[in-house]
Amino acid sequence: MNTGPGKGKTTAALGTAFRAVGQGLRVLMVQFIKGSWHYGELDAAQMLGEDRIQILAMGRGFVKIGAEKPDPEDVRKVEEAWQFASQQISSDEYDLVILDEINYAISYKMLDPEKVVEVLKNKPAAVHVILTGRNAHPSVVEAADLVTEMREVKHPFQQGILAQRGIDY
Ligand code: ATP
Ligand code: MG
Repeated sequence: MNTGPGKGKTTAALGTAFRAVGQGLRVLMVQFIKGSWHYGELDAAQMLGEDRIQILAMGRGFVKIGAEKPDPEDVRKVEEAWQFASQQISSDEYDLVILDEINYAISYKMLDPEKVVEVLKNKPAAVHVILTGRNAHPSVVEAADLVTEMREVKHPFQQGILAQRGIDY
């Protein structure tokens, strides 16, 4: 799992995906929140080929925050993504499954962490699962074998530099 406030959670997962593809493993990345922005990794995955790596954006690109309850449409999207992703983890289709920004969905109460723990505990031993996103839930941290926390030391954003093409998207 890659968590914490510093940059690099999703890109570290993509780095592992790149390595895994090189070793002939089949990779699936399910993106829980992303949906509208066009990320470079979507095209890079196509270049590698769908039989090696698939990236599916199953969110709406943004989630309204601040409201007391999450938008039902976002919850529905998260549930759909989770149902699909958990099926794929249990199937024998992939060697590495990345659940991108799933921690975000859990922390905004759009997904029950205990359901995630259950699937992680019962997954086929040979299947690797990487979860990303800030504010990892303690139960999921406990269930994971590997947890890295990205710590922010500096980020160009603090100088007013917004998302950069090829680096942030
Ligand atoms: P990346 O996708 O670049 O690895 P991330 O997965 O660690 O980033 P997220 O929490 O998913 O970070 O945030 C997504 C977006 O916010 C990315 O465009 C990322 O570059 C940017 N970002 C990440 N960390 C920071 C930060 N500490 N300050 C400002 N922007 C950030
Ligand atoms: Mg991310």
